[in-house]
Amino acid sequence: MPETTTIYPDYQFIQEIESYGPFGAEACFQCRKCTNGCPVAFAMDLLPDQIIRMALLGQRDTLLSCNSIWICIACETCTTRCPNKIKIAELMDGLKEMAIQAGIPCPQPQIRTLHETFLENVRKRGRVFELSFIRNYMFESGELRRKWNDGELSYDLKLGLKMAAKGRYLFRPSKIDGQEEIREMLAYAFAGKSKL
Ligand code: SF4
Ligand code: SF4
Repeated sequence: MPETTTIYPDYQFIQEIESYGPFGAEACFQCRKCTNGCPVAFAMDLLPDQIIRMALLGQRDTLLSCNSIWICIACETCTTRCPNKIKIAELMDGLKEMAIQAGIPCPQPQIRTLHETFLENVRKRGRVFELSFIRNYMFESGELRRKWNDGELSYDLKLGLKMAAKGRYLFRPSKIDGQEEIREMLAYAFAGKSKL
């Protein structure tokens, strides 16, 4: 007889997720409009509608360790398409933060490094300065060494030069108003919820 596994739902899980929102996940009626519009659904191990369903069913361990929350590119197509105005993209971010806080290893470590270096850059300057962001990411993720060893670095450098010639990024960080306010907003958003 095949062995069966009993999964016990964690009914408080959805309340915990909603504390990062609110996202309104309980209104989901599984129409799948979110998934049908998601540009990276093909690469996900759990589709956006499945994530909402599993969140409602309290599948904490599966959700916090899945690839999808890290693969999501935060384009907000799902949020825009949802007939019930559920903030799916934002919920994905909430799950990311919960996974980080719970110390669950990221199945896509480079994406986590990208996430962290991006936020650090915004925290420092109030907006992203592409050159320092890419430099930090390349060093901290180990991609610089990997690309060097694989002979891929020259392609990136040529692309970077082409983009510079077209004025696609700045060589010096531009100043913006309200840097302190942005720092305060980030501190407020992550207060007690994340190591970031
Ligand atoms: S589009 Fe909204 S209601 Fe439809 S499955 Fe996705 S989250 Fe649920
Ligand atoms: S925000 Fe994420 S889940 Fe939603 S459509 Fe974009 S990539 Fe897909």
